[in-house]
Amino acid sequence: MSKFSIPFEVTRVTKALEEAGFEAYLVGGCVRDLIRGERPKDWDVTTNAKPEDITNLFEETFYNNEYGTVGVYDQNTPDESVRIVEVTPYRTETTYSNARHPDSVSFGESLEDDLKRRDFTMNAVAYSEKKGFVDPYGGEKDIARKVITTVGKPKDRFNEDALRILRAIRFTAELGFAIDSETASAIQESAQNLKKIAKERIRDELSKILMSEQPIQAFFLMKQLEMLEYVTPDLIRGIGIEQNQAHKYDVFEHLLRTMQHGADKGWSFDIRLAGLYHDISKPETRRWSKEKGNWTFYGHEVVGARVARRALNDLKFPKKKIDKIVTLVRWHMFFSDPEKITLSAVRRMVRNVGEENIWDLLNLRICDRIGSGRPKEQPFRFRKYKSMVEEALRDPISVTMLKIDGKYLIEELEEKAGPRIGWTLHALLEEVLDDSSKNDEKYLQNRAEELLKLDDQALKELGESGKKRQEAFEKEAIERIQEKHWVK
Ligand code: ATP
Ligand code: MG
Repeated sequence: MSKFSIPFEVTRVTKALEEAGFEAYLVGGCVRDLIRGERPKDWDVTTNAKPEDITNLFEETFYNNEYGTVGVYDQNTPDESVRIVEVTPYRTETTYSNARHPDSVSFGESLEDDLKRRDFTMNAVAYSEKKGFVDPYGGEKDIARKVITTVGKPKDRFNEDALRILRAIRFTAELGFAIDSETASAIQESAQNLKKIAKERIRDELSKILMSEQPIQAFFLMKQLEMLEYVTPDLIRGIGIEQNQAHKYDVFEHLLRTMQHGADKGWSFDIRLAGLYHDISKPETRRWSKEKGNWTFYGHEVVGARVARRALNDLKFPKKKIDKIVTLVRWHMFFSDPEKITLSAVRRMVRNVGEENIWDLLNLRICDRIGSGRPKEQPFRFRKYKSMVEEALRDPISVTMLKIDGKYLIEELEEKAGPRIGWTLHALLEEVLDDSSKNDEKYLQNRAEELLKLDDQALKELGESGKKRQEAFEKEAIERIQEKHWVK
């Protein structure tokens, strides 16, 4: 009666438990995903076996004391999602006194005990190939109607563990589900309990929200349920802050839409997070300019970099991650500078931002424009930036590419310092540009020795010809970049 395709690495585990006389069910996210017709990311098994029973049954296991979970390890499988199958004994939770975690976790007697402590009905369905579904809370139906609803009274469940509030929000963004109205009201009433949750856990949920397909939905919902204060309080100031004509949305919505475009493009976490914070300090820096008849936000990227650092630090993001996001926030305005773009300005920016961040910064810029709600099509100026960034990043063609240098000519070949050194190197460069295999130390040394036998006039001619060739090569390389970006 196998209704789903379950990898044999997983059935091997449930079968072994059953053959040893225990119950074994798939449970949680994997059953939810199977019902939705999606491939689970990982597989969880629940059983009435105790940890030592489980470790005895399988060759390679490791045991996590805190939760009683035993990881059953299969090193031979190429499929990473089944390399570790987590087997957890039935559990029941006793009292919660701090909205954080139960005072004690103990093993439960039955599958029913175990399902009862789970957060949402969609996560409280058990499935076994032998026995089919065990679904006391109507999870299958809720999955079909795409609704998130708690197991038991929502208020009680959120009082036990406030992280469930954020998990509900995260699942809306990941699964595209709605939150049942009673559960939603309870979220709103209990949101302040999130204050008791460790920032690291909030950070992890927030990160999953950002990496989901619809992070924007999660943030609109958090606004509606008045819980931003406990997750990303700095966003609140942007609500209702109007901007100039280049923007359709208030600062808050602009930030969300910038982040969302990163998700729509499938771009990195860093771009999405920087998108969420890039204009975080527009509210504090907004001034009315009489001359312009418009709002200005001078220095918002400088203040914003500071605010973003503080906010991400509060959320306990790692220092390296924070540094990168702050850099992106700090320099996101570079592109809007109305002044003429010079290559040296671009070089300076590349130095400020770091080569490793430069393409993320350009992508953030794309998100920013789309997030304004009044995007022009990719304007010429932006393509020009990309072209110039590429130009700034490439190594120019020059005598420094040669596997020989002036020092060798002076010290080993006993040539006096003077123009003959440059002529010789440029003559060698021309040969190498025509045939790159000649960029060989031995060859160049011999060839240099020959060249240095020439008189000034002859050597100068060769050198100048080399210089011309170098310039032509440079020009061509830059033209190729410009053609690629349609700015020629
Ligand atoms: P995914 O792995 O796709 O994020 P998941 O539902 O598997 O989703 P996990 O965090 O892996 O989520 O948790 C596994 C299961 O454990 C959940 O499906 C749920 O039944 C239960 N669970 C997890 N966290 C809680 C919690 N805070 N309160 C109650 N039950 C929870
Ligand atoms: Mg899971």
